[in-house]
Amino acid sequence: MNPPKLDRAYLGQRIHCYRPMRRGSPNLSVETQGKQLIAHNYGHGGSGWTLAPGSAAYVVGLAQQSAQGRSLAKDAPITVVGAGVIGLFTAYELVKRGCTNVTVVADRFDGLTSHKAGGLLAPVSMDNAPAMQRIIDQIGVDAYRFFASVAKGTNVDFAKGATICPAYFENREESGLEPYVGQVMEPAKDVTLDFGNGTTRDMVVYDDGIFMEPAAMMQSLRAYLEGKVTFAQRKVTSLADLPAALVFNCTGLGARELQRDQEMVSVQGHLIMLKDQVPADLQSMVLVYYAKGKTVSGQEAKRSFYIFPKRLPGSGANDIGVFGGTFIEGATPQTPNDEEFQIMIDGAKRFYGIPVS
Ligand SMILES: Cc1cc2nc3c(=O)[nH]c(=O)nc-3n(C[C@H](O)[C@H](O)[C@H](O)COP(=O)(O)OP(=O)(O)OC[C@H]3O[C@@H](n4cnc5c(N)ncnc54)[C@H](O)[C@@H]3O)c2cc1C
Repeated sequence: MNPPKLDRAYLGQRIHCYRPMRRGSPNLSVETQGKQLIAHNYGHGGSGWTLAPGSAAYVVGLAQQSAQGRSLAKDAPITVVGAGVIGLFTAYELVKRGCTNVTVVADRFDGLTSHKAGGLLAPVSMDNAPAMQRIIDQIGVDAYRFFASVAKGTNVDFAKGATICPAYFENREESGLEPYVGQVMEPAKDVTLDFGNGTTRDMVVYDDGIFMEPAAMMQSLRAYLEGKVTFAQRKVTSLADLPAALVFNCTGLGARELQRDQEMVSVQGHLIMLKDQVPADLQSMVLVYYAKGKTVSGQEAKRSFYIFPKRLPGSGANDIGVFGGTFIEGATPQTPNDEEFQIMIDGAKRFYGIPVS
């Protein structure tokens, strides 16, 4: 395997973004408030893309099977709050189940974490209680089936937006993919990567890893929903005030304020878009964890690097690859931790046996 080019000339746009993680597990539940049914679908941490279609099906199912949900007509007013990957997949699921009166309300539709995310299908940066982990595993298997159908060209609604490609990890446990093996994935194989420069690394590879293209898939979801649901741009300050019989709360980090959910925490990530690469060298994904450490602002940093074969819409033919990433709990735009970009680059160079200048 040829390493990606990581010298300064090959590094493009630098991006900070924030994973909406909920300590203990995402909130996938329903509650009744007066005459209103509220379904929560938020807090997926670093796994929102990995879980979105399965999570939407699970939460819509919970709502429709509840006593109040069973009596709702197909044309009952439903509001989905949030237009990230979780909100759009929730709206998609409702449309697929025949709901005809769905409104998606959000204060932002573009430039979200959901557009900027890497795109590896693997459950990471979550903190799930054991009972919930079993449900999350099943949701992940369902989501894998969905994205595999997109990648194989058999999905009736989406012609592109996901690719099947090899996914390399240091070991099976850290991949988070073992619960999928035997259900939708083949077992990982032990491999030695040889970078052709005297450096080799023992890794495991899942040949049927899935890479999702977040920005493209967000565009396709939006296009699918256009004309089938109503979109409204505004900030919601109270779910109970919405004039809908059923409300889906898909607000990610917004749930900390809207739902007064103190378990919601922002997990900062750093990404660098790669440019002028050899596309053939970037046809797989790699995830490697480094040692934990403290940032200059004193926050705990779980450091790693990952590389995916991602392109930004409109980028040049050789501008392929996104390079991440850090997991810094509690970090916000006020603590950008910019020095982490260099730590990440140096760590990746050491992994590939590229001299660190
Ligand atoms: C660096 C990085 C890399 C990542 N890589 C991956 C990956 O490889 N694989 C993976 O599975 N996941 C990955 N993720 C995680 C994934 O991006 C998130 O889990 C996912 O995008 C969360 O989606 P969401 O819809 O919950 O939140 P968001 O995309 O943040 O959307 C929230 C929506 O709610 C709206 N909203 C919030 N509050 C209100 C309010 N009060 N009123 C109205 N609207 C409101 C917002 O405007 C927005 O529309 C990554 C994340 C980061 C940061």
